[in-house]
Amino acid sequence: MIQLIRGFKDILPGEVELWQQIEKVARQLFDDFGFKEIRIPIMERTELFKRSIGEDTDIVEKEMYTFPDRKGDLITLRPEATASIVRAYIQHKLFAKDPVQKFYLLGPMFRRERPQKGRYRQFYQIDAEIFGVASPLVDVQLILMLVTLFNRLQVPDISAHINTLGCPKCRPGFKSALQAMLMTVSDNLCSNCIRRRDRNPLRVLDCKVPACRQALKDAPSILDHLCSECQADFTEVRNSLDKLKVPYVIDKRLVRGLDYYARTTFEIQTGSLGAQSAVAGGGRYDGLVKELGGPQIPATGFAIGFDRLAEISGLQTSDYERKPDIYLAALGEKSQSLAFEWICQLGLAGIGAEMDFSDKSLKSQMKRADRLGASYVLILGDKELDEGKALVRNMATKEQTSVSLNNILENLKKVIYR
Ligand code: AMP
Repeated sequence: MIQLIRGFKDILPGEVELWQQIEKVARQLFDDFGFKEIRIPIMERTELFKRSIGEDTDIVEKEMYTFPDRKGDLITLRPEATASIVRAYIQHKLFAKDPVQKFYLLGPMFRRERPQKGRYRQFYQIDAEIFGVASPLVDVQLILMLVTLFNRLQVPDISAHINTLGCPKCRPGFKSALQAMLMTVSDNLCSNCIRRRDRNPLRVLDCKVPACRQALKDAPSILDHLCSECQADFTEVRNSLDKLKVPYVIDKRLVRGLDYYARTTFEIQTGSLGAQSAVAGGGRYDGLVKELGGPQIPATGFAIGFDRLAEISGLQTSDYERKPDIYLAALGEKSQSLAFEWICQLGLAGIGAEMDFSDKSLKSQMKRADRLGASYVLILGDKELDEGKALVRNMATKEQTSVSLNNILENLKKVIYR
């Protein structure tokens, strides 16, 4: 038997209802905050991700699904959404009318990571991006939206971690201080960190290897190196979060791995996910639109890990599963043929109706109605056809109502909607 690819997964009925509900709650929230949905291809030219995510990142170095198409052009299954959304924003000149645009996107992403619980090779994200606003207040709005979404989805034990990455003016000073410190602890760093120490020292702060984390205990903090503008910016973020009563912790290790981030950066972590504690992350990427060939337009955004969110949401799938409103237990050829007509009519009228097509015994049909969780059962046999009426049974209360077969659809609606 051919099995699915390692690191990929099926989302089956029984789980999918929860995903739909999460989507519904998220869409409502984004809609309320003025975000428009954007849908973009799942493949792009490899160059787009290389330029936007940065060559010196895990994603570009070893996780992208990249292959030549039949003409030899290199294409990549998107590992994240921001680069493609920026590409669309530039390509369609969406900034021409009004540079301020807010988008959200739901969809699959692909990274060839080592599969484990909470980490897949095809996973899903909910992204939101705001273009054209330099004020850190919109970063705060994004954090508020994240926290609100997690609360509405009853995710326990979440905390918002925030940091700033400074700007091209003050970050170099911090980088040098960090690099100098890293030289003193080189013996205790993993080989990845040694390589990054020279090329992209900020990324060393991100390393999850326990020995590296220990070695970096006393690493300098960017907060001590901020220029006055970045300092004012970060103070505004904190004051505004306080005003909105959004709790947060300042996390000096929070450096997004991507080169185009600047200033505010944030992550939502949860205690209920074990090793994969980040369920959403984001921040400001003021340099990316220009980097990809557009005008100098600031931007900020986040990505939520949908799979992880579904794992930790307190919502129950069973609350959102659609069960049949009525089951028609039809016995005999004539009843079966009538029942078929009726389930079609009921379906068209928005009433979920099921029947058995193989003329099984009443007992086995009742069992199936029960298994499906039908709210009502109508029993239809030769006797009922002769008498022109049938019994409708309420499966929860066991109460039975006699309905006339004349005008049956209207009569059933009356019972079901009573
Ligand atoms: P990133 O784009 O790396 O900032 O990731 C944003 C969010 O996507 C993370 O906080 C995770 O919740 C989720 N995520 C990233 N990679 C994976 C993966 N391989 N499997 C499942 N979720 C992921």
